[in-house]
Amino acid sequence: MDSTNIKRVRYNKRKRRRKRSKTNIGILVKLILCVAVIFTSIMISIDKQEKATLNMGLSEVNEQDENNNGDTTAEAGEKREDEIVWVNDNRGVPVICYHSITEDKTKKGPIVIPVENFKEQLKTIKDAGYITLTMAELNGYLYENKPIPEKSVIITFDDGYRDNYTLAFPILKELNMKATIFVISSFMNRSDCLSPEELKEMSDYGIDIESHTVSHKRLSDMNYKTQLKELKDSKVAIEKVTGKPVTAIAYPEGKYNDNTKKAVVEAGYAMGFTIERGYADRNDLSTRLNRICVDYTYKPNNILNVLKNLKK
Ligand SMILES: [Zn+2]
Repeated sequence: MDSTNIKRVRYNKRKRRRKRSKTNIGILVKLILCVAVIFTSIMISIDKQEKATLNMGLSEVNEQDENNNGDTTAEAGEKREDEIVWVNDNRGVPVICYHSITEDKTKKGPIVIPVENFKEQLKTIKDAGYITLTMAELNGYLYENKPIPEKSVIITFDDGYRDNYTLAFPILKELNMKATIFVISSFMNRSDCLSPEELKEMSDYGIDIESHTVSHKRLSDMNYKTQLKELKDSKVAIEKVTGKPVTAIAYPEGKYNDNTKKAVVEAGYAMGFTIERGYADRNDLSTRLNRICVDYTYKPNNILNVLKNLKK
């Protein structure tokens, strides 16, 4: 082989080597590009999935919000604070009077009402847009010139039957309504009457626990001193249980006389309730406030008439 041939062979070898290394670089570049493309598409897909999951989460939250809003607005008769029309004229306020609530449908009477009737009546009141007041709110309207919602009502119970806790209280809570219970202080440990624990629980919830005397005897049959003792002792006993001031009394059987009215003031009560039929208004003596006793015969229409059309 001459030198020219040797040079050519070497040149061809170098050319092949260069060609091979060029091919290798090309493959490497293609590989890197491939990896980059795969990596990017994986990243995009993860991102999309995360966004989708997030959106799903958000839409679930939104749905829950909508449901919650739906629940609050769908609440029958429930008025929002800004929907309430406040009045401060001298209008009568219906104070409804119940006694015992029963699950026994055969037990119907002037002071016993089946729980279904009771619930129907309260629902009618609520659906008509009425708002239940506490004793303090009624007192503020009658004697301190404070406004009340245009559609106001007070729900009261006399005697303090145990069913007021077992049957009425769950319904009041369900319908978000306030009420007042007038209890006989010497009956607080009787099995058919509200116990101090039950009274405390209801009082803590916002039910007003007020007085119906110590013994439930007719006040009008007693002398002044005995009446005063009934009023004072029951007030002290109930305040001990609830830890709140007792400001109102309902007269047993609705009976009272001039001495009662004086004794009520002397014993420190702000309001005394009769069972004389009518609304309570600012022209009434604070010791002679009317109420409306309602029994099982009242259908929704009768209840609405009581709220709207009762003459003084
Ligand atoms: Zn009574």
